[in-house]
Amino acid sequence: MDKRELIRNLKIEGFSSKIIRAFLRVKREHFIADRMKSLAYENTALPLEEGATISQPYTIAVMLELLELKRGQKILEIGSGSGYVIALILEIIKDIEIFGIEISKNLADKSKEILKEKRIKIFNMNGSNGLLEYAPFDRILISASSDRVPSHLYGQLRDGGIIVAPVKNSIVKVKKKEGKFRIEEIPGFSFVPLRK
Ligand code: SAH
Repeated sequence: MDKRELIRNLKIEGFSSKIIRAFLRVKREHFIADRMKSLAYENTALPLEEGATISQPYTIAVMLELLELKRGQKILEIGSGSGYVIALILEIIKDIEIFGIEISKNLADKSKEILKEKRIKIFNMNGSNGLLEYAPFDRILISASSDRVPSHLYGQLRDGGIIVAPVKNSIVKVKKKEGKFRIEEIPGFSFVPLRK
């Protein structure tokens, strides 16, 4: 598949034009190893290293749609890997602040190289407990799956905020409103596990 076909597929799936435009503008080939570049626009996950993968474009698009991104938000991605999703988010919405946490030093270092911007901070650490010193966040995206949404994260979400997280083989959306959490589940996905 080439980029045109991928974009056509995302259109057929009905994703919003802002999200599709981001997939068009961000070069996925920049975020993967040289030997994978010919596969950059396949609608599949691609291996990064140490068992990490850059997620399938379709899956990323679903998560980005669920996040309801808006100007001025503070966003956290846990499992920021290559930095591809962060680059897409920045393309969708310019006026934001974004924090990435990545457990692999190599991936964290590489993504810092590609994403040199004031609005982005990447931390090389275990992100299971979030990033308390920069909380609260308007949006928290987890890009690796666990058995439940890590409980610390609920406290790091601003009121009106949204968490999008893979839980087992579903994508879960948690919306916080007046201190209450509303949960929505979309089954049928697979993710790299979140390391403990
Ligand atoms: N969103 C990324 C890819 C996600 S793959 C991209 O755009 O490239 C999931 C990532 O989560 C992997 O890079 C993996 O190393 C990382 N990861 C797994 N457990 C983690 C943890 N506890 N804390 C931080 N990162 C973690």
